[in-house]
Amino acid sequence: MITKAVIEDLVVLRMKVNKIEPQGFCKGVINALNIVNDTLKIKNRIYLLGEVIHNKNVINDLQEKGAITIPTNNRTRLELLDEIDKGTVIFSAHGVSNAVYEKANAKGLDVIDATCPMVHLVHNNIIKRINDGYDIIYIGTKNHPEVEGVLGISSSIHFISNVDEIDSLNINNDKIYSTNQTTLSIYDIENIYKRLKDKYPNILIDNKICNATTIRQEAIKNQPNADLCIIVGDKLSSNTKKLVSVSEKFTNIKTIQCEDLNSLDKNELKGINTVNISSGASTPDYVVNEIIEYLNNL
Ligand code: SF4
Repeated sequence: MITKAVIEDLVVLRMKVNKIEPQGFCKGVINALNIVNDTLKIKNRIYLLGEVIHNKNVINDLQEKGAITIPTNNRTRLELLDEIDKGTVIFSAHGVSNAVYEKANAKGLDVIDATCPMVHLVHNNIIKRINDGYDIIYIGTKNHPEVEGVLGISSSIHFISNVDEIDSLNINNDKIYSTNQTTLSIYDIENIYKRLKDKYPNILIDNKICNATTIRQEAIKNQPNADLCIIVGDKLSSNTKKLVSVSEKFTNIKTIQCEDLNSLDKNELKGINTVNISSGASTPDYVVNEIIEYLNNL
């Protein structure tokens, strides 16, 4: 027989789940997926150079609809083009350099660009400053496709990935312009720009961390207290990894990352009463909702 006391025990044991907003695709990801899906309706043989966005569920879905993803395997976008001889190639939201456009056009491929407008802006600003005689310092994550696209603009760009690498910069030019990858930590970049300003007082700083990245990181920094924070997103997703690092840096809440319900380590849930859950800008809503439903039913 279920007594009042038993019901109260069950209520006490139920896990509390806080969904940290905002979640869902950012505008750049929605734009890229709309372009791919619209193209699939009218073209055959559609190729994607690496993952169009960093999410395996989405990539598998597009694959089933007929879009062929050329796996990166540590190759550049230029090298990936060697695998395509005809058909349509779609450039990902991360953007590519002009050399990739030129090679695709020279091969006679139909080229469709799904680069996020924010990344386009970064490319255009860098090109303008180079033409105006500036030295460029670009801050990003090594081997990330967005960084590869930017560094392909010019071999003269000075690239750094952390504050310590500032020491190795040796630039003799009064005109220095610095900008960055759109999905870095808004807190790490403050420190990097401060150190750059100390070293080069005249530097022109143009912080280009995008709005979608900024507001998610602020929400994670200010998340309510909980026993566990789960960040849902692909291992390759830069903005997902930064959400993890912000949570670890600014809260005392244990933080774990998973790609979906299958990869969620269920051992981490033992003895947990309250969970906060957030996700990267390339994680579909249904993946997060599936995890929330699982947690609610524990
Ligand atoms: S995370 Fe920002 S830069 Fe990247 S696709 Fe989304 S809106 Fe664009």
